[in-house]
Amino acid sequence: MKNVQLYDKSFKLYLTYDEIQKAVDDVAEKINRDYDQEDTPLFLGVLTGSFMFYADLMKRIDFPCEMCFIRLASYEGTSTTGAVKQMLGLTKSVRGRNVIVVEDIVDTGTTIMELDQILKDGGARSIKYSALLLKPGNYKGSIKIDYPAFSIPNDFIVGYGLDYDQLGRNLKDIYVLDEEETERRKGINIK
Ligand code: 5GP
Ligand code: MG
Repeated sequence: MKNVQLYDKSFKLYLTYDEIQKAVDDVAEKINRDYDQEDTPLFLGVLTGSFMFYADLMKRIDFPCEMCFIRLASYEGTSTTGAVKQMLGLTKSVRGRNVIVVEDIVDTGTTIMELDQILKDGGARSIKYSALLLKPGNYKGSIKIDYPAFSIPNDFIVGYGLDYDQLGRNLKDIYVLDEEETERRKGINIK
């Protein structure tokens, strides 16, 4: 599929499933190398957007590890609200654990700065960050993203777990907002 329409917005193909799989291979290879000797690290998935990346990444991890999830939300529509809500808190203690955070996309960095505090307050021994997508142009955080799969411009993305108002998460490729096509369709009143 080259184009998708979600509500009032048009999106065009940006990264194919195969390109994503190759990038996930690279991230997994780096993590497998870095954590070879570590004690049962904990992979913390940030729901909801990271679920596909998380599943694909975990299939490639070759050392004993534990998994858990937290659900944070900061976005409404296509922009951040600036405030991070904890919809589902930590269900496991992180005290003394080596934690690898698995995020879908790091934009302004508000979400991971908040998460970093939660993990530090919880007594994590070490914290590293993996993210499917990173927008360096928007990023204002002070935390290093250790394992980014892709660095992208400041565009709005859907697919492979990421949504536009809850639609598009099931798409296996990644799509970017097509402003021109969205405007064109608005002009001729197609839904
Ligand atoms: P931040 O707190 O870094 O500004 O934003 C992080 C969160 O905002 C992500 O985990 C994701 O849920 C959402 N987000 C940021 N950029 C995009 C985007 O381009 N597309 C979608 N669907 N969500 C985004
Ligand atoms: Mg996220």
